[in-house]
Amino acid sequence: MANQPELLVEELALLGEGPLWLPESKTIVWVDIEGMCIHLYTPGTEVKEAIPVGERIGAVVPAADGRMVCALQTGFAYLDLASRSLERIADPEEDQPENRFNDGKCDPAGRFWAGTMPLEGDSPAGALYRLDGDGKISTMLAGVGCSNGLAWNAEATAMYYIDTPTGRVDQFDYDVLTGNIKNRRTAFHLPPGQGSPDGMTIDIEGMLWVAHWGGSCVSRWNPVTGKCLESVQLPVSQVTSCCFGGENLDELYITSARDGLSDEQLQGEPLAGGIFKYTPGVRGVAANVFKNR
Ligand code: CA
Repeated sequence: MANQPELLVEELALLGEGPLWLPESKTIVWVDIEGMCIHLYTPGTEVKEAIPVGERIGAVVPAADGRMVCALQTGFAYLDLASRSLERIADPEEDQPENRFNDGKCDPAGRFWAGTMPLEGDSPAGALYRLDGDGKISTMLAGVGCSNGLAWNAEATAMYYIDTPTGRVDQFDYDVLTGNIKNRRTAFHLPPGQGSPDGMTIDIEGMLWVAHWGGSCVSRWNPVTGKCLESVQLPVSQVTSCCFGGENLDELYITSARDGLSDEQLQGEPLAGGIFKYTPGVRGVAANVFKNR
């Protein structure tokens, strides 16, 4: 039988997102945005946990001091996994309760980038923010419809970015010393009829893996040539994000959603909201850590 994605663990999220591999504990972490919790699972074991955070959570990343940093509906906050306590950092959109945070990730210098989107509709009322280690928040992009996938190349000279309604993956010149981005251009478009680009990760060959919301697959792309290299079909339509994990970073973990699907659709895709494991034959790179010290 051909290599196919398989359900990793019996756990269906409303809106699964933001998978993240923690190498020390060999644990995969993901968020359920609408389920308002963080899931943790150690593959090959029975160790599974859900941590409620009391509001929508768009992304979570590890911090250098051992805590996690969350992009919550009401802004950035530290989370202590052991005590489950939250410590607020700041909310750059205190005056925009109609928005929430969505996808986010740390850059190669340990700054946390996360963006927002409107809770309703698709007006470009969102933005992309950068939280630096000293707690300073900068607005890096305005006019964002639905801030989603982020990735940096190994040389730390390029940042890739998805604003979902554009249907594109864009590329910026990235300055690792200052954290500035410039010279936005299109790397590639998802072909029509294959859903919308959502979360994204990068492998050691510099190729991008993009989750197709409404497209039932993740696809691998060469951002230099703009060519699609591979498409991996999933038994669910709302594919949200992916990351590399496992001890050798040779497994791809893929999240999905059941939120918004009709009862009839859910009957046709009973695993919607599941997290899947796929062995792509190429290794990924470890997630960057938020450098708060
Ligand atoms: Ca997303």
